[in-house]
Amino acid sequence: MDFALWMYPWDVLDEGVTTVVERLDDIGITEVNLATNYHTVQAFLPHNPVRKTFFAQASSYFQPDAGYVDLKPTPNETMGENDWVREIADGLEGTQIALTSWTVGCHNSRLGLQHPEMTIRTPFNDSLAFGLCPSNPAVQQYLLDVLEELSAREAFDRIELESFDYMYGTGFGWHHQKIHARLGTLGEFLFGLCFCDHCRENAANKGVDVDHAGRVCRETVLQLVEGRLPSTIDPYSWLATHPEVDKYVNARTSVLMTLFSDCREIVDAEMGYYLGLLDVEDAWMHGADLKRLAEPLDYYTVIAYESSGSAAAARLRVADSLTPDISLHVGLLPGHPAVDDAASVSELVDAVVDAGAERVSFYNYGLLPERNLDWIREAIREYV
Ligand SMILES: [Zn+2]
Repeated sequence: MDFALWMYPWDVLDEGVTTVVERLDDIGITEVNLATNYHTVQAFLPHNPVRKTFFAQASSYFQPDAGYVDLKPTPNETMGENDWVREIADGLEGTQIALTSWTVGCHNSRLGLQHPEMTIRTPFNDSLAFGLCPSNPAVQQYLLDVLEELSAREAFDRIELESFDYMYGTGFGWHHQKIHARLGTLGEFLFGLCFCDHCRENAANKGVDVDHAGRVCRETVLQLVEGRLPSTIDPYSWLATHPEVDKYVNARTSVLMTLFSDCREIVDAEMGYYLGLLDVEDAWMHGADLKRLAEPLDYYTVIAYESSGSAAAARLRVADSLTPDISLHVGLLPGHPAVDDAASVSELVDAVVDAGAERVSFYNYGLLPERNLDWIREAIREYV
């Protein structure tokens, strides 16, 4: 059984690679899922010896040197001329710790603000800066270029994809959120459904009446916020009675299939995709048809930041029922706000191992207090 920790590069380097390797070895961790290309963040860092917080706009933690065209990752300013990914990869070479690239794709507000024409466009034609649209060929090229560059470094045993899909919702959560109308899940989904030129064209090519679908989305969002439709309405059953929007939503799945197949061509390492940032059964909201997407992937990592073992195992079971032919890894949160004691972490680990998880990743080294790292050691002791 393999156990990994998600890690930020600043936490590794502030503490020193050698010290971190010793600590991971002591805990029983054999893999680092390192943030290589990452969204905007302000992190509270309880045990970092240098700083207690780190703020960064969406950044790469490597120096991009591949032949990027329209979109290029912005190397993080704190890093200066250095290449933190390379420093860490070099430092881990020859140790027992394997390296995974934790790779964020479309969630990039820095690039979204610079290129509003490449972001998600709501049915009302607003640009949502937090999310690049994967239907846009320039965005697809950017995602492939990032993967090509990382893959070419031959430093990673695995490359894991986060938000290489259609982001859900309004995007208001990443900054001072101002929403004083109740959208509900359906309203958030429809407001965040992309109607950029590329999404429209893609759906029109599949025979969808795009103008009609857009009009229904706009009317429904307004009905929801005015209370003429209940905000608790289930999006899945709503779509069943609105076939043009349903077809519009489904047209996105083939775009992701092609994108992931192209990613597969580039990535030599094992390739995984984070699943379940929403509920696992709601992956379709991201445009992901889990059964079909499994083909170009080696595994899914089911995000199960749950408070009980049974809830975490249930997520794995749902994923297995939706996509039975692919290996399932799992992500656990051994701390706030999911759990608050060692016994609960042990319960989580036992439950997901029992449910068939092939690998467990914990979130995340620098964000967890030291006592939580002790809880991980205790929880995985019998499996390492
Ligand atoms: Zn779009």
